[in-house]
Amino acid sequence: MRAPQSGWVIVAGLGPGASSMMTPEVDRALAEATDIIGYQPYVARITPRQGLSRHASDNRAELDRAHHALRLAAKGRRVVIVSSGDPGVFAMASALFEALESMPQLEADIRILPGITAMLAAAAAAGAPLGHDFCAINLSDNLKPFDLVLKRVRLAAEADFAMAFYNPRSNTRPAQFGEVLATLRDQCEPERLIVFARAVSTPEQVIRTVALSEARPEMADMRTVVIVGSSRTRRVGPFVYTPRSA
Ligand code: SAH
Repeated sequence: MRAPQSGWVIVAGLGPGASSMMTPEVDRALAEATDIIGYQPYVARITPRQGLSRHASDNRAELDRAHHALRLAAKGRRVVIVSSGDPGVFAMASALFEALESMPQLEADIRILPGITAMLAAAAAAGAPLGHDFCAINLSDNLKPFDLVLKRVRLAAEADFAMAFYNPRSNTRPAQFGEVLATLRDQCEPERLIVFARAVSTPEQVIRTVALSEARPEMADMRTVVIVGSSRTRRVGPFVYTPRSA
């Protein structure tokens, strides 16, 4: 049984950027919180108020952040860990459970609140490119070898999935996205449609659709989610969509 004074940890998705894309239940959790924990740009999205401590940390400090949240909750604090998009998509929810595995003695009241993930906001802005079977691949090699990234891209293309690529390109690994495009060129026809969706739902949003033959690594950065169509994905008017049948 939980002590009456016990705190909680909520891992909340803030959505892709626009505050209108944040769910009302996330809004409520933020209003009840005593502490906000997260990567600095996400914490910056939370309006300061009295009684709210904001703890911003570096991008790669996920496990430290999760341990910190669990320790605060054990002291009775009400902690919201914030992620952009959805917290279960390449984000803090799994990091929290990894931390929990290493602190089994800790009794914690934990909830995960979903958010609109980047690929869904991007797909809606472009039309419906994820309207049939698709997969999501994190192109970062922070937590897995890059060979595995290329293998997954190759097999997903072979299976004719549409694909959403997160973390497509960063300054620390500028060449890798070029290798991903080369892998796609081996597997797919040159007309295959690719959507580069940058800063979706923010004032800087840019949605650009090109054929695979025209795609260049510089079209993506860390604020871009890349959607690769299946062989059936096509244009209708200004939209890109994938029909519901294969
Ligand atoms: N949990 C987040 C993903 C975190 S990984 C989510 O569910 O959206 C970070 C990557 O997400 C970025 O490199 C980019 O590929 C993508 N991303 C996040 N917000 C985005 C936005 N507003 N527009 C385009 N891509 C975005």
